[in-house]
Amino acid sequence: MARILVTNDDGYFSPGIDALAAALGALGEVTIVAPQTEASAVGHALTLRRPLRFVAIKPGVWAVDGTPTDCVNIALSQLYPDGVDLVVSGINKGLNVGDDVTYSGTVAGALEAALLGYPAMAVSLDYPGEGADFRPAAAVAADLAAGLLASPLPVRSFLNVNIPDGRFRGVRATVQARRNHVTKIAKRIDPRGLPYFWVEEAEDDWEHSEVSDHQAVRDGYVSVTPLQPDLTDHDLVGRMEKLTALVKVE
Ligand code: MN
Repeated sequence: MARILVTNDDGYFSPGIDALAAALGALGEVTIVAPQTEASAVGHALTLRRPLRFVAIKPGVWAVDGTPTDCVNIALSQLYPDGVDLVVSGINKGLNVGDDVTYSGTVAGALEAALLGYPAMAVSLDYPGEGADFRPAAAVAADLAAGLLASPLPVRSFLNVNIPDGRFRGVRATVQARRNHVTKIAKRIDPRGLPYFWVEEAEDDWEHSEVSDHQAVRDGYVSVTPLQPDLTDHDLVGRMEKLTALVKVE
């Protein structure tokens, strides 16, 4: 029986993780290890400066008071020292497309698993708000999970899956979209006269691309993007001589 670890960044109590675990239950033994409180947009953070607690919530469900990356590491070391067959992160309340994947705790959960050598997938839903039905997205995740179990991707590669709300028209293999990156910071004054700041929602201004993850979801398609952890600009490596020559070697 396949051993499947499920995590997320919205917290162990999120309806998205319940729907995901239920759908994956048809494929094997599913264990949830997820953050105790919401950890959206924590990216690939590890908690290094305080202890972590690992709490059993109910059979098959555990919480860690840390990040998705903490969850994957604690789950694999404490529950699955012999490894798992698949790690799935989600289903996130909201898309994780394009440039935004580096902020995503959901994607980082799958990234960490991929770095540790396990087949992995992140799943996000274009979230319509409270009361959303995660079951259609969970069924998509289960279909793709079955595919990963049957024929794994190359080591260190993993999937980032984004799903439109409601009915979808098909599935597209995509690349990351690029967003016109304007981050707005709101400055306010607290009751003691001191300033405080809120990072506001990013502007929804994407470069047009027929092959992008963002466009696929906009067109009503499930977006499946193969990712890998290497951020190196491989084309540039061979063209760094001018720059590297500027550094004086004594
Ligand atoms: Mn989230």
